[in-house]
This record gives sequence, structure tokens and C-alpha cells, in this order.
Amino acid sequence: MSETMLAMLSNIRTVEDMVAAFRDEERCRRLLESMVWPNGRVCPACGYKRSTAIAGRDMGKRRARPGLYQCSSGDCRFQFTVTTHTPLHATKLPLRTWLKAMWLLLQSDKGLSSVRLAETLGVSQPTAWRIGHALRLMVAREHMLDGTVEVDHFYLGGRARKDPDDPPPGRGRKGQVKTEKTPVMAIVQRPTDITPGSSAGDARAAVVTGLSLRAAIRAVATQVELRAHLMSDEAKAFVAIGESFAAHETVNHSSSEYVRDTVHVNSAEGFNARVRRTIAGVFHHISPELADLYLHEIGFRWSQRVVTGQAVRKTRSGKESKKILWSRVPPALQLQQVFRAATGRQMRRSHSGGITIKSAVAVFG
Ligand SMILES: [Zn+2]
Repeated sequence: MSETMLAMLSNIRTVEDMVAAFRDEERCRRLLESMVWPNGRVCPACGYKRSTAIAGRDMGKRRARPGLYQCSSGDCRFQFTVTTHTPLHATKLPLRTWLKAMWLLLQSDKGLSSVRLAETLGVSQPTAWRIGHALRLMVAREHMLDGTVEVDHFYLGGRARKDPDDPPPGRGRKGQVKTEKTPVMAIVQRPTDITPGSSAGDARAAVVTGLSLRAAIRAVATQVELRAHLMSDEAKAFVAIGESFAAHETVNHSSSEYVRDTVHVNSAEGFNARVRRTIAGVFHHISPELADLYLHEIGFRWSQRVVTGQAVRKTRSGKESKKILWSRVPPALQLQQVFRAATGRQMRRSHSGGITIKSAVAVFG
């Protein structure tokens, strides 16, 4: 990204700054280009790194619009804009509306409901709902977690079944799906450093309905490097998968053991609590089919924090414990992280006004 664009984003602190920065459509397009293509333009169809601007060129009935490029590869010749093959593909909304919406969503502490976003932006609620999902799709992350990684299993929307190895009740019985508890697996990478300025680790969670605990753990374990140091509670299924990793330590929750020196799953439990608070406080109800998208957003928000210091707290027993203090990355700077994984992720408006995810994987990023 160019120095001037970065400086411009760094200067956005208040709503007023943001509205001023995102007022001009042409400027928003250039900003978006520098975020989607931080290392220069890439053809979204073939990944070729050379293309030419064809704005103003005669295209028969009309002239090519600003921001239209053509791939220079002789085999491809694909014509594209910065939004092609992203969740903004073929959007009818101005880019300035998109940028404002993304900033507002990221600026809020836990997210905004589509009703609130619609009111603030002056768009319809279904449009705001789709904007929110575009953000959620772009902030999904694919790289492997490493270092010390905590794994945890929890349920959304109610208490857990007695034995998590039992198959979920009511499987295949459609009428019950909405009231069912949704099983979730979470993995959280501990921050490598807790000196001021260090970033929080990545956190991911996924709905694992219909999977046994063992299969669910295997599914998330594919996102963790084998050299990682795994931390979990003592469930048998965790112990089994833990053998594949360089190290695995467990805390014995059933005997009220929660922390043994560095062996704990406090980060994962903190993330779990954040997921619950966000869903209860902001989204109220999320459909199981789209739950993973909300979890992408919550995981991304978790990662967009930096350490500001440590506070010493006294526990009830008089023991001192250190608590890490965090601040959030300014929303305008988070935008860079959002758009750098935009190409390849595609959703379309469905006939019923909802969304269809066409592709959830970023390409050429
Ligand atoms: Zn191409």
C-alpha cells in the first residue's frame, strides 16, 4: 500500500474523519485498489500480474469506466475491476458506502446488527445484512495456527448434553434444528509476546453439528501446525489428537483444576465468553447455516487487538495475578486486513433476498 494511502487511513480516528475520508468515489476506488492489491494489480481470473487500465477506451456502445482493467496475459484478456470476484462483485452500492459500512462495523466494539447499520447508513436492512456478511466472508482466515494453541469445545444456545461423544439428538429431524444447541470448536493461538504493542493471536471457531467430538477435533486440528504446543482440557478425544502434535498438555477441569503454571485454556475460554456475549448482545439469533460467518467476524475482532500493558489484580485469596490489557487496532487500519483477502471470496444475492456463498477461499492474496 502506498505511503499516502496508509497515512490517510492512519488519520481516520472519528466518524467525522471517516465521512470526510470516504466522501469521494474516485478516491475510495483508489484506496480499495491499494488494499485489495497491496503488491500491485493481480488479474482475479488467472493471477497474472500485468494488466492495463482501459478506462475511457471505446467499447462499442459505451466507453470503459474508470477502474476497469484488462489482463495482459494473451490467454486470458479478462476485464476486471477491484471488486471483481470479491464479495462486492457487481455491487450497485457506491464504494464509499461499502467503506463507510466496513468502518462502522469494525469501529463498534462487538459488531452491529443489520438494523442498526441500515439506520446509520440509510440503506435497507437486507442490504445492510448482506454488507455484514461480505465483511464476515472476507475476514475468514486460512493460514495455520502455530506456537501455543488452545483448543476448546462449547455449545451455543443452551447447556451441553451430558456426554459430548453422544450423537446430537434429533439429527435429521428438521423441525428441531432451530431450538437445538449448536456445538462449536474453537482454537486460539496465544500471543507470543505480552510486551506493549504485541498482537493478540488468531482465534477461529467453527460449528461442528453432526460430528463426534473426535471428528470435530480432527477437523480443527488440520488448521494447526504439527509443531505447535496444544493445550486443552482432559477429554479423551483431545488426548487422542494431542499425540499428533509436538506437545500436548491438559488441565483437569473435573477436579477443579483450571490453571497449572502455563498450562491453561484461559484464552480459549475468554474467546468462548466473547462469542456468547456477541451473539446474545448483537446478533440475538444466528441461523446455524450462517453461524460460521459470524464466528469468522468474532475471531477476526479477537485478533485485531494489541497489548497496551499489564495490570496486577488481587484475587479473593489475596494472591496477585497479572491481567493483560488490550486496545483494538483502529478500524481504518483493520480495513487493510479485511480487503487483502477479498479476491476469490464470492457471494451472490439469492432469489429470496438472502445470500449464496459461491466461494469462501481467497486466491492470489
Ligand atoms: Zn488474467
